[in-house]
Amino acid sequence: MAKVDKGLVEQLIEGTISREDARSLLKMDQKDPERFWTYLEALQERVSWDDTILLRITDHLYIVRKDGGARVVKCDCGQEFGDYRVNWKLGALIRLRETPEEIQEVYYPAQACPDPEWVVIREFYCPGCAAQLAVEVVPPGYPIVFEMLPDLDRFYQDYVDRPLSDAKPDWYQDRTHEVTAGWAKGEA
Ligand SMILES: [Zn+2]
Repeated sequence: MAKVDKGLVEQLIEGTISREDARSLLKMDQKDPERFWTYLEALQERVSWDDTILLRITDHLYIVRKDGGARVVKCDCGQEFGDYRVNWKLGALIRLRETPEEIQEVYYPAQACPDPEWVVIREFYCPGCAAQLAVEVVPPGYPIVFEMLPDLDRFYQDYVDRPLSDAKPDWYQDRTHEVTAGWAKGEA
């Protein structure tokens, strides 16, 4: 059974893999059944904290399992964004671009700029390391987009054949509204 070299997986993560190597991985007759675990191992070695990475969801963010059993979103810098069932963007710093001048700073040429009457740009930054975590271009007032709520239990059970020991039906639930409802009531 073909095995993917861990060094190549690390290069994939870093974005330094050569075109030839990337192509050879794509063209493997049979996929390496261990490749997801090799990938997780390589990710885990790159971060300075010990919480178990369950899934990477952006360049900087991971869903991790804490010792107490919570599944939270965590930045590679260590900043935590809370329960992964709540949109992590609610815990990010948000920069809003809503005037033509603000939008022109990130669009070129000027004719390519969206009309600020119809569109705003939201940039999300990590409060811990200031990395830009996401950008969304949406109509003014549009709810913050929840980009990824993975069904982790099903993924681990059905796709990589190693069910999570703490699987339960209520892991796969969007709980963002509970936080925003709290804000509406004046809770922190
Ligand atoms: Zn960070």
